[in-house]
Amino acid sequence: MNKSDRLTLVAGGAGFIGSHLCRMLLEAGEHVVCVDNLQTSRPSNLAVLKQYDNFEFIQADITAPWPTSLVTRARQFHRVYNLACAASPPAYQADPEHTMLTSVVGTSQLLRLAEASGARFLLTSTSEVYGDPESHPQREEYRGNVSCTGPRACYDEGKRAAEALTFDYARSGRADVRVARIFNTYGPNMDPCDGRVVSNVICQALSGEAITIYGDGSQTRSFCYVTDTAEALRRLMEADEIGMEPVNIGNPREMTVRELVDLVVDMLGRPAEVRNAPLPVDDPRRRKPNIDRARALLGWEPTTKLEDGIRATMDWFARELGDEVLVTAK
Ligand code: UDP
Repeated sequence: MNKSDRLTLVAGGAGFIGSHLCRMLLEAGEHVVCVDNLQTSRPSNLAVLKQYDNFEFIQADITAPWPTSLVTRARQFHRVYNLACAASPPAYQADPEHTMLTSVVGTSQLLRLAEASGARFLLTSTSEVYGDPESHPQREEYRGNVSCTGPRACYDEGKRAAEALTFDYARSGRADVRVARIFNTYGPNMDPCDGRVVSNVICQALSGEAITIYGDGSQTRSFCYVTDTAEALRRLMEADEIGMEPVNIGNPREMTVRELVDLVVDMLGRPAEVRNAPLPVDDPRRRKPNIDRARALLGWEPTTKLEDGIRATMDWFARELGDEVLVTAK
């Protein structure tokens, strides 16, 4: 495959969503430079990407000074995607200071890089900027209900600051920017141990462990399949007229956690024990994106049915966990 002079930088490219985005870009013939600290990524995600000639990997943390291998290439970038941040609550709460710095210092460093190379910049923000929303479904105009002192603040407030910084670069003409607010996403390449509801429920169901529902399971989320999310990010980056607005990326099909558990257990085809555990502090009651803006600006909406996506994810986890699952399955 021909290597072009124009490089696409994907920070966090070895992670869950990042690895799907990299693969999509590589398949389209782009030369992708992935920067990742491997904090929450699976080695197998990276192994697949390394099979492409047009892929380069640089192990680095976006909060640290750039390694020479990146500095010497800086002026060649024409697209900079920032997907680097732990995103599951247990993972981002394990080192809250680093989480905050990843969003703020990391985004600042990547924006400077984008400015220096004249690259277009895309920040992946999050539905967490809406906090525990009082407005439902969530539109981009909604300013959110975030606790700035709670255990989720390192992530929510970090991303809010990153959005502010990103739009300041655009306002002052320093970079052409895009901001995606990503809602709950699931699919292959998720870390089975990252503590999210989809990975927990599937791994517990496959291995015959009790399925944990936090609280009474009546809280809602809206789950988007990862290839739909990656396609939306690529379209957002390449769209010409976006303006100074963030764009929600998610699936508007809302369901309770209990309904998700029932779906997984149905697909498994054998009974499973369910155990209730305490609801985490500041756990949002409801979450559902309004995606009118993505539909209008990107001509995008999710195309993967939840049942098909959950089936594909279960198959992937079953393969990935392999013997581990078979040994413990009841
Ligand atoms: N949750 C659950 N069981 C689990 C993990 C999570 O019931 O094993 C709940 C969690 O409390 C939340 C929802 O599922 O209400 C989604 O949690 P997740 O961590 O996946 O993402 P969040 O949207 O909270 O960032």
